Amino acid sequence: MSAAQIMGLVASGQATSRADLSRLLGLAPSTVSAHVQELLDAGLLEESGEGRSRGGRRPRLLSVRAGDGVILAADLGGHHARIAAMDRAGRPEAIQDLEIDVTAGPEPVLARITDALAELAAGRTVLGMGIGLPGPVDSEGAVVGSSRMHGWNGFSVRRRLAEYYQAPLVVDNDANLMAMGEAVVRGPELRDFVFVKAGTGLGAALVNDGRLHRGARGVAGDVSHNRVPAGGERPCNCGNFGCLETIASGAAIVAALRAQGVDLATTADLVRLARDGNPTVNTTLRFAGRQLGEVLVTIVNFFNPQAVVLSGALATCDLFVAAARGALYERCLPLTTQELQIGESVAGPDAGLLGIGRLLIDQGLAAPVRNLP
Ligand SMILES: [Zn+2]
Repeated sequence: MSAAQIMGLVASGQATSRADLSRLLGLAPSTVSAHVQELLDAGLLEESGEGRSRGGRRPRLLSVRAGDGVILAADLGGHHARIAAMDRAGRPEAIQDLEIDVTAGPEPVLARITDALAELAAGRTVLGMGIGLPGPVDSEGAVVGSSRMHGWNGFSVRRRLAEYYQAPLVVDNDANLMAMGEAVVRGPELRDFVFVKAGTGLGAALVNDGRLHRGARGVAGDVSHNRVPAGGERPCNCGNFGCLETIASGAAIVAALRAQGVDLATTADLVRLARDGNPTVNTTLRFAGRQLGEVLVTIVNFFNPQAVVLSGALATCDLFVAAARGALYERCLPLTTQELQIGESVAGPDAGLLGIGRLLIDQGLAAPVRNLP
């Protein structure tokens, strides 16, 4: 057992008392008390108030002490980055939005991000640093096979960042981090879910028993290149044909509508026209949502999640979500949908940042957290 495990259980709200820790870690109360005392002495945990009694003395509530040092986080999109300095518990203290152009390549973009983060850190010790990238990231922290991140393919972001920071690092794709952010906001009750980011592009992530499922090479969760019958012979930027991405991504829907003479250029335009009730837009959105839903049917039948969480611009379009939900209820095994929640993400614009915080805390922050004997 490590101190990081205790810190992770307390930070995530799974454990609020020594009794919780004892139960979750399967350790004797005396052992847990000794470890907790060390963390209290080190100033990493603090006690407050009194919890609910389950018979006997009421337990003191444990929480993570904000203390010194910062977690730094950056969530990158194609043209925009949201960066934050967070406390030891992963709570954002300062957030800043930056305009970036991810196609400028990794060196200038990372230099810009690390400069801006240095300002937010204001000389404090960096306890951990994480970055979310809008493309597939392999287990080495390198971008792989992204058609939208010109100049990044094969570049090890992790190795570059390790030159800046002598602290634990997280390098992951945006959908994975947003899924973990959703887990932070929803709390320990939500442990098994499929998270779909449906914006200009499509991405997805799988959280299994509270943990990200990354797969053998780190790229699990990609639903966008599943072939769908309606995709026909449409070329996809992955080099294949008829992928879900060519029908149900914001970019694909915008292109389909333009071909039908609708005047729009971006996914934001699409959302606006959908709100105005444009009939051509609605028909196309409904069709796209249905295609996404049919791909999710296979995943829900196989994985039996508690929830399918939809995020991104398209998740704000009721018809798109309703069509995906309809396909799931119609085509999934009844037992898998009986208690299945299907709905929009509640994590908000900081989802990726919160996810970075959670992953760093789970893997263990920089000193003074050390392995307990
Ligand atoms: Zn594809």
